[in-house]
Amino acid sequence: MLEQARQLLNRYYGYSDFRGGQEKVIETILQGKDTCAVMPTGAGKSICYQIPALLLSGVTLVISPLISLMKDQVDGLVNIGIPATFINSSLGIRETRERIRRAAAGEFKLIYAAPERLESDHFWSLLAAISISMIAVDEAHCVSQWGHDFRPSYRSIAPMIAQLPNRPIISAFTATATDEVKGDIVNLLTLKDPKIFVTGFNRPNLSFTVVRGENKRDFLLNYIGADPERVGIIYAATRKEVENICEFLQGKGYNAGKYHAGLTDQERKDTQDAFLFDNINIIVATNAFGMGIDKSNVRYVIHYNLPKNMEAYYQEAGRAGRDGEASECILLFGAQDVLIQKYLIEQTIRSPERQTQQYKMLQSMVDYCHTPRCLRRYILEYFGEEGTVEYCGNCSNCNDETELVDITIEAQKIFSCIYRMQQRWGSSMVAQVLRGSSTKKVFDMGFNRLSTYGIMAEYTIKAIRDMINMLIADEYLALSEGKYPIIQLQEKAIPVLRGDEQVFQRMQKKKTKVIREDTLFERLRTLRKEISTRENIPPYHVFADGTLREMDEYCPVDGESFLAMKGVGEAKLQRYGTEFLAVIQDYIVEYGNSARKKELNLVAKTAKQETKKRSHVITSEMFIAGKTLQEIAAERELTITTIQDHLIKGKKEGLNVNLDHLIPEEYEYLILKVVQEVGSERLKPIKEALPDEVEYMAIKAVLCKYDLK
Ligand code: ADP
Ligand code: ZN
Repeated sequence: MLEQARQLLNRYYGYSDFRGGQEKVIETILQGKDTCAVMPTGAGKSICYQIPALLLSGVTLVISPLISLMKDQVDGLVNIGIPATFINSSLGIRETRERIRRAAAGEFKLIYAAPERLESDHFWSLLAAISISMIAVDEAHCVSQWGHDFRPSYRSIAPMIAQLPNRPIISAFTATATDEVKGDIVNLLTLKDPKIFVTGFNRPNLSFTVVRGENKRDFLLNYIGADPERVGIIYAATRKEVENICEFLQGKGYNAGKYHAGLTDQERKDTQDAFLFDNINIIVATNAFGMGIDKSNVRYVIHYNLPKNMEAYYQEAGRAGRDGEASECILLFGAQDVLIQKYLIEQTIRSPERQTQQYKMLQSMVDYCHTPRCLRRYILEYFGEEGTVEYCGNCSNCNDETELVDITIEAQKIFSCIYRMQQRWGSSMVAQVLRGSSTKKVFDMGFNRLSTYGIMAEYTIKAIRDMINMLIADEYLALSEGKYPIIQLQEKAIPVLRGDEQVFQRMQKKKTKVIREDTLFERLRTLRKEISTRENIPPYHVFADGTLREMDEYCPVDGESFLAMKGVGEAKLQRYGTEFLAVIQDYIVEYGNSARKKELNLVAKTAKQETKKRSHVITSEMFIAGKTLQEIAAERELTITTIQDHLIKGKKEGLNVNLDHLIPEEYEYLILKVVQEVGSERLKPIKEALPDEVEYMAIKAVLCKYDLK
């Protein structure tokens, strides 16, 4: 069965291997057992019930909480050739009946339904006509009051199951791992002697960064400006902040939209659609945005303000990189935000115990922003996973991208000015005095007579305030609570004033601009957008970013090599193969192989200048350090094939990776010989000239080892 499952994975989804966790869940379901799988967002829960649905005899009923998501999910399935449909309140009675009729006739393998449907007896009687072999409950934590989005209608699932003539297999899926929630899922969904799987919460393709006390707008401009085309989400704490940031970015010419609860339903829907279809690539939003979003190619999530707790942070940040490609989660920490969150707790929560609880959770969030340890480790420990990684090599603490600038003198000037102003003023007044501004207030207060007046005249007010913010974030200074916070010196400032200690400011290194000219990737992306518009489906349903990147890298020239690209299954080869192959062919003809290589080198070089460590570099380094492929795959929760790909990529980029274990010794010479005969331009003729058992991976490894491509 499992072998069949793998074949389906390949045929329909175009993936060569299951991800960590998926295989076990699928195996258990196929043995007919009830199953509960706890997997983080982006881990690939859907495939865990979709593939069994294909292998089981009748229909799988998927209970899914969001109507807005349902259509997208079904479109995605239909697009890869899996017959599926949905039933929710957006359909009329007639259409509902028609879909049920077709399901009874065996036309669908999956039916998605909203839980509210289950509250209607009528719907139950309709269901009786269908042979249901499995009920898959998505977002199963909605059944629990302990979860963060309780849905009363989830409580109708159990009575429905009890009414069915034959009890189907029940599988439940969630990303929430607390014991209360797990217990509720098992009990309230009446799972029978279930197998429970908890997959690690680590998301290796996400990098984590905390930026403390830097000017946030400057950061955004620098970050987005380095590659304006990337898709990203910026979360901010309030509607007003969302409006301001969005306007600011639009004013700088970026393609940004906004989303918050103060907009009309229509406005929100339009923005969401524009984002799904890549018509806008940056969304600025409050935490109202995201529940209905399953967009897989989000490359970064920036938190402009501190979230209220780690749960909220990890869920929102987790919306980056669902497609498994390297993506960034960045939190911009400002001390002011802590005060705002405290204020919100005070205002919105009545019970003193819950208040204390919320303050504690907030403190964990603040600690995350200050820990000198690995951020990933901090997160995983927070979620109860011990002893996973010591240093992940892919967070801002493991892999420092900042430059240290000595600002001891400036700090001393700021501290003594605050002291002389009797620690009774906010940052803007302090900055005015240091700068030597001649405002009325400065004179009225007699600050122009202080010895610190004008001693930082060479800086702008903004620069001085940025420095003060950084000193607050690093706890040399503290902000008082209240509407007009004042700045006070902290103990940490004293040795600095005495000249015993130095102060360094961390500055983000300037990102190098990505050069996007007429690359193949851009052409593929343009074609993807055309198809998306023509077929009215989001671009990522046509192909994921990672798939386009593979096409760009390997230049497939025929159906078979096209099928070898990650994310290309048979249905998509048929639908889109000709068009994409034509674009690739044109490109090769126009630029020739050498031009192409030159361009790739250029891109690789710019990528290297960004000091960010990419996933394949981490893999390669682990391998060089002596770990086996199996160990790396287990630790990073990636498949062996991915690890092999990483090593080849690492080697190509000049890392000291020994590829010999990818090359069966008895074929190495033969592969070389064939390459000599048929050339190294295309993989397929090489593969064809070799015995069947020689895999593409071996050929790629040989080409790489001898630097032939
Ligand atoms: P979740 O529901 O757990 O958040 P999804 O089911 O939406 O995650 O899957 C996230 C992404 O990962 C999707 O783009 C999916 O196609 C991809 N994916 C799932 N399984 C695999 C796999 N075995 N190999 C490669 N990609 C996968
Ligand atoms: Zn780390």
